[in-house]
Formats: sequence, structure tokens, C-alpha cells
Amino acid sequence: MSDRLVLLGSKGGPAIRPGGPWPSSSLLEIGGRNIVVDCGLGVTRGLADAGVSLKALDLIFITHLHSDHVLELGPLIHTAWTAGLATPVTVFGPPGTGLYWQHFTQAMQFDIDIRIVDEGRPDIRNMVSVVEFGEGLVCEEGGLEVSALRVDHPPVTDCFALRFEHAGNSVVFSADTAFFPPLADFARGADILVHEAMLEQGIERLVAKTGNGARLREHLLASHSFAAQAGRIASDAGVKRLVLNHLIPADDAEIGEVDWTTAVRKTWAGDLTIARDGLVVGLSGDQAAAREETA
Ligand SMILES: [Zn+2]
Ligand SMILES: [Zn+2]
Repeated sequence: MSDRLVLLGSKGGPAIRPGGPWPSSSLLEIGGRNIVVDCGLGVTRGLADAGVSLKALDLIFITHLHSDHVLELGPLIHTAWTAGLATPVTVFGPPGTGLYWQHFTQAMQFDIDIRIVDEGRPDIRNMVSVVEFGEGLVCEEGGLEVSALRVDHPPVTDCFALRFEHAGNSVVFSADTAFFPPLADFARGADILVHEAMLEQGIERLVAKTGNGARLREHLLASHSFAAQAGRIASDAGVKRLVLNHLIPADDAEIGEVDWTTAVRKTWAGDLTIARDGLVVGLSGDQAAAREETA
């Protein structure tokens, strides 16, 4: 199967609204590995709809512990387990990921114990390894190399951009971050940069809708990037394609793809994809072309 990136959940923030997109999660199929990046609500449904067998769950990376990136980590692994998962899963995440997993299995103890006895399942607690990482090389196996860069997402200090490399292909995820120039070096020459983005004209309406006004606005401005800033990083890094993702706002009827494109074209002239749930971006060789599939 050719390498591909599937944007499973494309919105920023944990809220979901009728008919709207899901919070953050992505699937990266590279070098024969199934890699899940972030596990916001909807990741399990998204993987199934992308045609991935949950039994093939393999590597999971969490950029940071905000709920829109981690809320469905336990439920994803647990659902894969009830679907017949028989091979080990490794979860790479920031400090605190191990505690999350330990508490998740405690919260689900009744169900886990009863399925082991009643259905003869292996113990899920022995099938998952959690590796907590910091900046630098995160893992290197079978030609896959993953490295991390701490980004600027206050008040969260353990938030990491991730770079995946395999056989000359490279994909970089910005994670959640304010405009952070060192990302350009980290993403240098990547085939795809998946960068978070928000749109100025949508912030005020979003703040009014969510109802905690000034504090939310303050958080957004201090901790996230505008689309034009994402474009600046992509241009400075010289990446082949920019994918705008973790969109804020993502479900405002008055904001469409053309608004995102207009904003990012001020700083980025190259290949561009505006994320949508289920959108597939091809990763094969020189034709790194985005192709859309219905999902
Ligand atoms: Zn987020
Ligand atoms: Zn965040």
C-alpha cells in the first residue's frame, strides 16, 4: 500500500457540534507502519472509516495532554482489544501519558477483568507499552525515525512537534503552538508540514458562542498560530506541501475553504491542503500530490 496521511479529525479544541468536524487525530501510513498521531474524540470511528483494521493498531504518538488530543486514547486501545487486537501497541507521549493509561485501565477494571475471564482475552494491561519522551530522538526502528521539538503552547510546557522520516519521506506535525520560528528548522525540507491554524475573523464569533469570552480569547492568542504564521513557517522551512489542520474555528458556517486559502496565501505560495475529516494526502515519492477520497 502506498504511503498516505489521513486527517481523521481536523478541528481545534474539544467541543463538537451538530454536523461539525471531530477534534484532533491523524493516521500516517509510512513504511508499512500504521501510526496514529493524537487521539482526540472520534479517532476510533475515523480509523475504521479510513479502512484501517483496529487489530492493526501499532504505534500511537501523543503531542500533548490537552483533551482534544488525548481524550480517546484509552477508548481506542480498548476498542481495538475487544476487536481482537493480539499484537503489542506502543504509545509515545509526553510525561503524564503513563499515568493516564494506568488510570484508564483502573477506570475500566470491571470490564477488562470480566472479558479476560468470560471471553478468554489476553490482558490488555500487558499489551501496551507507554514511552514518555522529551525533546530529541523519540524512536528509531525498522527505518522509521521519529524526533520531537518542544513548541510554544502555554500553559502546557510538554507539547511537542513531531517529525517522521522513512526512506526519504518526511512528515512533520506542528502540534499546538503559537508562532514558533524554530519549527522552520525542524521541518526543513519536509514533504508535508501539518500545521495548526486559526483565522482572525472567526475568533470573535467563536468566543461569543463558547461563552467564556475574554479568557478563551487570551488563551487562543497566546497559544495558537494564525494561518499566515503557519504559512511563514512552511515558507521558511521550504516544505513541499502545507496542510492547515486543527482549524479554529472549524465549524463556522460563515467561514469556508476560500477564507483559509486567502489568509495563508499571504505567506505561502506552494502546494496547500486545508484539512477536512477523512481527507487523504498521498505521500508517494515526487508526486506528493493531495488526492481526495470520500470518507
Ligand atoms: Zn488542540
Ligand atoms: Zn493544546
